[in-house]
Amino acid sequence: MQISEFQEMMRRLYFQRDSERGTKGTYDWLVDEIGELREALEAGDKEAAEKEFADAIAWLASLANITGIDLEKAAVNKYNEKCPKCGHSPCKCSF
Ligand SMILES: [Zn+2]
Repeated sequence: MQISEFQEMMRRLYFQRDSERGTKGTYDWLVDEIGELREALEAGDKEAAEKEFADAIAWLASLANITGIDLEKAAVNKYNEKCPKCGHSPCKCSF
């Protein structure tokens, strides 16, 4: 499944509800899920982390859907086989 197919699936599943919740509410859910991902990673719980990664990308896709962003196009345009900052692959930016 491509990123665009995943985003479209999320649209079919949740677009109505996401639209009613709105951008701020959906963004807040995404942030909550990112926090849960951090907790799972800090706990070293790989099974929980896998679920939180899924939730994070799902909420990111929901947010992209209601703001009219094509997630795959945006990602590939910016990260097109090289680091957008230094232009190298692999990245040579300093930490
Ligand atoms: Zn770089």
